[in-house]
Amino acid sequence: MRSLLLVADRAEAVVNSLGLEGRCRIDVVTVPAEPPPPPVSLPTTAYRSILSFGPPDELPLEPGVHVVASLGDDRTRIQLVPGMRPAEALAHLADGLQGWVIELTHGAARPPCPGHPHPMRAGVVDGTAAWTCPARPGHAIAPIG
Ligand SMILES: [Zn+2]
Repeated sequence: MRSLLLVADRAEAVVNSLGLEGRCRIDVVTVPAEPPPPPVSLPTTAYRSILSFGPPDELPLEPGVHVVASLGDDRTRIQLVPGMRPAEALAHLADGLQGWVIELTHGAARPPCPGHPHPMRAGVVDGTAAWTCPARPGHAIAPIG
């Protein structure tokens, strides 16, 4: 979980590289893995059970580290799952933030691929999270965050 928090700390740098420097807010929510359930004891008296459903936003978050980026009323949440390798988690975070920024900007190529009209793609290259050219592997590589 600690390595995921270090990845989450780089969310602001990722957002900056996507052109939203200082314009959005980043919140990090950590949800620990659920503790084992307590031993079951049979009720000794009659009991009542209530099942209720709320809107999806109120459902408890799954275990992991959740990075929430907000810009005005627009919000996105990217979940980093326990067990993800740091480079994989960072590439996943960058991919999620990029999708959100491209949507916010109505399709701007961010981050731009040098000399190409498309944005770069987040991935893992040689064990490191990197932006790469989706059309010509090796054309452009830049570290993420
Ligand atoms: Zn390219």
